Amino acid sequence: MNNIGLIGLAVMGQNLALNIARKGYSLSGYNRSRQKTDEFINEKVKDEKIYPYYDIKSFVESLEKPRKIILMVKAGKPVDDVIQELLPYLDKGDLIIDGGNSYFKDTNRRIEELNAKGIYYLGMGVSGGEYGALHGPSLMPGGTKEAYDMVNELLLKIAAQTESGPCCTYVGNYSAGHFVKMVHNGIEYAIMQSISEVYDVMRKVLKLSSEEIGNIFEEWNKGELNSYLMEISYKIMKHKDEKTGRPLVELILDEAEQKGTGKWTAETSLDLGIPTPSLNLAVVGRALSFFKEERTKISKRVQRNYPTGNLNRDEIIEDLKNSLLFAVFASFSQGLWLISEASKVYNYNIDLSEVLRIWKGGCIIRARILDFLREILSDDKTNINLLNSQKSISYLAEKLESIKKVTKLAKDFYIPTLTINSSLDYFFSMSEANLPANLIQGQRDFFGAHTYRRIDMEGIFHTEWEQD
Ligand code: NDP
Repeated sequence: MNNIGLIGLAVMGQNLALNIARKGYSLSGYNRSRQKTDEFINEKVKDEKIYPYYDIKSFVESLEKPRKIILMVKAGKPVDDVIQELLPYLDKGDLIIDGGNSYFKDTNRRIEELNAKGIYYLGMGVSGGEYGALHGPSLMPGGTKEAYDMVNELLLKIAAQTESGPCCTYVGNYSAGHFVKMVHNGIEYAIMQSISEVYDVMRKVLKLSSEEIGNIFEEWNKGELNSYLMEISYKIMKHKDEKTGRPLVELILDEAEQKGTGKWTAETSLDLGIPTPSLNLAVVGRALSFFKEERTKISKRVQRNYPTGNLNRDEIIEDLKNSLLFAVFASFSQGLWLISEASKVYNYNIDLSEVLRIWKGGCIIRARILDFLREILSDDKTNINLLNSQKSISYLAEKLESIKKVTKLAKDFYIPTLTINSSLDYFFSMSEANLPANLIQGQRDFFGAHTYRRIDMEGIFHTEWEQD
């Protein structure tokens, strides 16, 4: 009898299976198409106790009870299909763990349906790509605590290990794990976009080569900006194409694809009424990039008047660094606020500090700044908006002049900076006591009798703005 089962032997499933087996567990593997299973067993598995199965029944029967089965299949209908295939062979008390990027509302539905049948279900965010899956990912499991306790030991062993512990914790009730993973991806989109915007200014304003930009990113990665995304960005900038000898990044088509988690984050933020402009604009940025043909045509119609005069290279590089730190902070801050609100609305009971801790290792958004964010949270555990702290304001204030200069410089050079700009506007909006929404309320009342409230008296008011 094997300790655990894993369905879905594509890149993530294979690596997670190897990781689990290398921690001393025996594992039954199953994949819909036989070929992938055979390739995996023949080419990747060596001494690990990983055993292939070619039909669901014998796969399930190979597992010790209560059975624990991890799904690493494509999100969406495939998850439901696999659950339906499994159900006839499962017993009460068995556990299914969905490790894919499932939409949190689907996870809620599945938890409800399976719990009604006496089957436990965990929705678990997995971050770290294929390398993380093999060497230690960041794991974000959510569902009932009882279900989590069935695999607690195993998950802690396979997760990335950091000085503050394994990058896995019980995230919370229902779909808390998949919700947190979704927002993790939303933040990931925003940071990727911000780094790309900085790159754009460096190449178009400072006329730096990819190699030079790579060197600057590498230097930044040694300091406050240290993060996985910074690290891969400098490596990408320095990578030479084998065929042409040119920096490969310059040969990649500028159309950014997406699989949907960033869009779900943006949609959810709008549903819950929590402003996450940097996260939303990062999704818009990818959408804009996709219209290469149109962009190319329109670009030929636009007359550009570039500023003349000398630029202070070193000063601009320092300003760009500060702007990136500002945008990264704003992106995390927005994402955490969204998680906080969801935790209240959906009764997830999420500990934000723990979320930051498990993002410290293994995952794509691991970054040095997470320690600082945890420090801010530890000052006031009830604080759901990181901006609402003197430490945060002082941190951003130090970078404010830089980001103001960078957004202006980018505009002077016709360079879009969607997330950097929206991070600054987010800060301006959240730190502004008087927004012009009074005029919007007046407009709404004018055309739709939607009423308004006043600052000088209690009550709800409507005005006949035009007397005919
Ligand atoms: P894919 O998302 O490409 O999914 C491929 C796997 O799903 C294959 O094993 C495939 O089987 C199986 N599958 C698809 N449809 C069905 C179906 N109807 N019934 C049964 N099995 C089906 O693989 P990845 O390894 O990239 O990702 C797995 C999960 O992990 C996804 O949810 C993904 O979003 C998530 N994830 C991926 C990360 C990454 O870096 N790739 C990072 C973090 C999470 P078959 O071989 O028969 O086609």
